[in-house]
Amino acid sequence: MKRVVVVGGGVAGLGAAYRVMRARQAGHDVDVVLVEQAGRLGGKLATDIVPDPDGGSYVVDGGSDAFVSTKPAVRRIARMLGIEDDIVPARDENKRTLIVKGSRLVELPDGIMMFAPTKLLPLATTSLYSWPGKLRMALDLVLPRKERWAPGETAKDHDETLESFVVRRMGREALDRVAEPLVGGVHASDPSVMSLAATFPEFLEMEQKHGSLIRGFLEQRKAREAMRARQPARPGQKPWSFFNTFVRGMQTLPDAMGSAIGAGRMLLGRRVVEIGRSADGWRVTLDDGETLEADAVVLAVEAFSGAALASGVDARVAELVGQTPCSSSVTVPLAFREEDCPFDQRWHGILVPLVEKRPLLAVTLSSSKWPDRAPAGRVLMRGFIGGPRNQHLTDASDEDLIETARKEIVGLLGMPDGARPVFASVYRWVGGMPQYTLGHLDRVEEVEERVATIAGFAMAGSAFRGVGIPNCIESGERAAEKVLRDLGFTHEEQRESGPPR
Ligand SMILES: Cc1cc2nc3c(=O)[nH]c(=O)nc-3n(C[C@H](O)[C@H](O)[C@H](O)COP(=O)(O)OP(=O)(O)OC[C@H]3O[C@@H](n4cnc5c(N)ncnc54)[C@H](O)[C@@H]3O)c2cc1C
Repeated sequence: MKRVVVVGGGVAGLGAAYRVMRARQAGHDVDVVLVEQAGRLGGKLATDIVPDPDGGSYVVDGGSDAFVSTKPAVRRIARMLGIEDDIVPARDENKRTLIVKGSRLVELPDGIMMFAPTKLLPLATTSLYSWPGKLRMALDLVLPRKERWAPGETAKDHDETLESFVVRRMGREALDRVAEPLVGGVHASDPSVMSLAATFPEFLEMEQKHGSLIRGFLEQRKAREAMRARQPARPGQKPWSFFNTFVRGMQTLPDAMGSAIGAGRMLLGRRVVEIGRSADGWRVTLDDGETLEADAVVLAVEAFSGAALASGVDARVAELVGQTPCSSSVTVPLAFREEDCPFDQRWHGILVPLVEKRPLLAVTLSSSKWPDRAPAGRVLMRGFIGGPRNQHLTDASDEDLIETARKEIVGLLGMPDGARPVFASVYRWVGGMPQYTLGHLDRVEEVEERVATIAGFAMAGSAFRGVGIPNCIESGERAAEKVLRDLGFTHEEQRESGPPR
């Protein structure tokens, strides 16, 4: 019997362990052990069900709160696990985004796709941008491409930061007002160092193909509208949304994956401190000194942790992985009484541009974005604090973080000054988000090339090719398949796969 040890119980590690289990169930003589330093599975997926003193309960996602429909991995795994019916789409009837401008909230104009306007009237009438700013955005229609790519070249050969790209095509206001908080925000990234090729290569490709982002996004919007017109919702069919979650929160997914793998195969609350070679495989050392013998190891941890553990395997891999900076953030869920919330609740989120110099990064109105997140008469929100340029804020005490989020939210939404949350908590994500800086893809390629030559070893997770949950699951599955092949097992699975992003 061959044994695979997976380090890390986030979705990447679970994706790897569950993949090994499927090979085992298909008759291969292999087993798996998953080691996770926390006392629970899920990593950046963490749901708590919190009772309200007056009855009912909140479904509180402290980390990820959604997965996208366009990448199939989550739905595919949910189907295998029998939890597909627990998937719920976002409440798109409330889907509006508000942007902080001074002390006001301005709605993101209709037709803005990522950061490019595709509808004239909403752009003309919004107070989000100045008139010079709007005219500068329109220049995108006539500005020539920066350069023509030679045949065979890709976005990676012409990488650029989000900041330089958006400012070049559409001007500073387009960056400061929307691209930075919306596009940079997905990766909690500093736009001045964020690699477009590693995060949104489609923007660079669009410039090549259409010569203009406005034209490119316009075409994309029309294609989507045409597709929806061709495929109207069938009666009884769940409404489609770009964003989805589970009825009882995102934790449903790691919990179900953990159950399918089996509690007996999990070592929770145990930290791996070293990985090294043994006479005929690998030796994985835990923080209490216990060692696990393994025929193969999958390392599915954060970049900083992966760099430390990979040093016992390949110094160059450790060095390269260690070059991925990670930014910290804090999520502060807060529930208020309905009577303290005299504002229109038809929105999903507030974005706070960095130029506003506020401690808050964003707010999600969970009880409007999702069904059944809060008891009747309560409003559930999540404030985000931190990010790459405000790392120091995440060191504050829980009390200070809650008060910061409360004060900001109360002020922005015009709630009574004294409005106190019925419930509040703090989730800290130290080094929680890897930053894909310029050169990221080159580093990842070199890591992949080196790891490919190390039999019985693989790496997975958000540090490599995509931070989204579906990407991380697939990276775990690919890592498991690599070590299964190294061990001589050839268990193929047919599956549709999303773009590696
Ligand atoms: C606040 C926040 C909100 C997000 N929102 C979304 C969202 O809505 N949608 C989305 O798609 N993505 C979102 N993301 C990104 C996404 O959640 C993550 O990129 C993804 O879950 C990472 O999965 P992973 O398995 O690669 O890593 P992780 O979830 O980080 O798991 C790694 C695990 O390894 C464990 N570990 C580390 N070192 C050791 C060790 N030495 N020994 C044992 N265990 C170890 C850690 O404890 C951790 O559990 C969000 C991220 C954050 C931080």
